[in-house]
Amino acid sequence: MSYVFAPAPTVSVPVVGRAERFPVHRVYCVGRNYEEHAKEMGFTGREPPFFFLKPADAVVAVEAGQTGSIAYPTLTKNFHHEIELVVAIGTGGRNIKAADAFKHIYGYAVGLDMTRRDLQNDMKKQGRPWCIGKAFEQSAPIGPITPVADAGDVPNAEIWLQVNGTDRQRSNVSKLIWNIGETIEHLSAAWDLQPGDLIYSGTPEGVAAVVQGDTLVGSVGGLGTLTIKVA
Ligand code: MN
Repeated sequence: MSYVFAPAPTVSVPVVGRAERFPVHRVYCVGRNYEEHAKEMGFTGREPPFFFLKPADAVVAVEAGQTGSIAYPTLTKNFHHEIELVVAIGTGGRNIKAADAFKHIYGYAVGLDMTRRDLQNDMKKQGRPWCIGKAFEQSAPIGPITPVADAGDVPNAEIWLQVNGTDRQRSNVSKLIWNIGETIEHLSAAWDLQPGDLIYSGTPEGVAAVVQGDTLVGSVGGLGTLTIKVA
């Protein structure tokens, strides 16, 4: 096989305890999946889950113990953090039932769904796609993936984010509106899940802006910390 130009390299994420890396296929994100975050965004109640995607090359994979760097993006004056549990799919499938969903999970990681909130809000008002607010370069930082066997009780894990050492977000994965199994059930009814898919499962309340020079440190349970500097 030859190409008219060199194909882009495969995006991948380190795996805790292994030399092999996790190759990324797609990046799915769940919208408004914690009640208190839904409220701060002006919504209430349990609405059906909804999804958006980021391109795989939006992923910024940070090695264990390292500080990742993202550039402050263009066009925005309101660049928000969203700390999220990321579910890494190891076995694909379609129409997966929630009760069977955990067989499809390779592992879990800490991620940030970075958002150009002003642009997202403009698109919402106009009923237009969120892509410009969500699916831009370096918008999906992620730490190393911990395989399920070593990940502990992720469905009941604390999730938190500090900016420059001050708490911004603190909640618990148990407060997901649509839990991990239900999320996979809904996603796999709409798309064929593939090995390498990442699912950013939603953010708790406390989303707010960051500026150049800020350092973000976040974690979910025993999945280690993700540290990102806004350059
Ligand atoms: Mn999000």
